[in-house]
Amino acid sequence: MKHNFGPGPGILPHEVLKQAAEAVINFNDTELSILEISHRSPEFEAVLAEAIKLVKELLNVPEGYSIVFLQGGASTQFALAPYNLLPEGGKAAYLETGVWANKALKEAKYFGETIVVATSKESNFTYIPKDFEIPKDAAYFHITSNNTIYGTQLRKFFPSPIPVVCDMSSDIFSRTINVADFGLIYAGAQKNMGPAGTVLAIIKDDILGKTNRKIPAMFNYQTQIEGDSMYNTPPVFAIYVSMLTLRWLKAKGGVEAIEKDNFAKAKALYDEIDRNPLFKGVCVPEDRSYMNVCFVANNPEHEKPFLKYCDEKGIIGIKGHRSVGGFRASIYNALPITSVHVLIDAMQEFEVKNK
Ligand SMILES: *Cc1c(COP(=O)(O)O)cnc(C)c1O
Repeated sequence: MKHNFGPGPGILPHEVLKQAAEAVINFNDTELSILEISHRSPEFEAVLAEAIKLVKELLNVPEGYSIVFLQGGASTQFALAPYNLLPEGGKAAYLETGVWANKALKEAKYFGETIVVATSKESNFTYIPKDFEIPKDAAYFHITSNNTIYGTQLRKFFPSPIPVVCDMSSDIFSRTINVADFGLIYAGAQKNMGPAGTVLAIIKDDILGKTNRKIPAMFNYQTQIEGDSMYNTPPVFAIYVSMLTLRWLKAKGGVEAIEKDNFAKAKALYDEIDRNPLFKGVCVPEDRSYMNVCFVANNPEHEKPFLKYCDEKGIIGIKGHRSVGGFRASIYNALPITSVHVLIDAMQEFEVKNK
């Protein structure tokens, strides 16, 4: 048995994969594959409608927001957010908390002036900056809720005088949020929601239409909203599997229930990292991510043998990102706590062997 701690595309629930596999051959007894049906068919329209309804329910999305499924990954949203929200001659504010935040910032520079309100770059992004002021005259404030590579997470969000744009790619649906705190939320599906190939965007309607900029249809949030995520052919399969994953989440008790499970998984693993004399955590404890747990071996010579030991136990995907090194255990929604215990056991056995 494999224990998939991969950072992304990440683990999906086994029952979702089984249903998806079935639908590739015979989708809902249509005797057609989900891969070959029209996106305009009533069958797919029902899938899309259910996916949107589940997003609304699971995140309690209030009135005044539109929900769309887009393509191009979260990386395309790095550009679309400023394209749609940053007026010519305007400014956008960014909190620089890692690689993804930095890439988002770079894209915004194509569209206007950017302000980095705070950064933790000097410490290789091991913490989330706390003392910053959000400029009132900026068009929006961009944040990354969970820093997938460095293993930090914004534990709390904050009041903002301007719309908050949030990249939630790696922790959406992992914890309760108040959607009303945000002007725009976007998330690539492949960390916690489904397969690669689609991006969820939750857009507050009244933040649009303020730039005077002419925006090509595919890059314009308004067109995508008016087209009900079907201005062009949507990524049918990715949306279908995301819908199945959201159904699975709802059946588990929704975001409130999974948040408790995720906390239990993260606590068990961080407790072991803090206890085990062979390992140490990378980030400051108060900003540690409950999704991507980064740690290193105190003795660098233990790194390779521990990875090999994990591999023998079916623990995969825990090699740290090259910019941090060491290990990163991604413990997304679909990863069962039993897998976390397999990793903890491996750490303890490795400790005994290396005494
Ligand atoms: C993975 C990730 C991205 C990039 O997503 P793509 O879909 O590959 O463009 C962006 N932001 C965060 C926080 C991520 O974890």
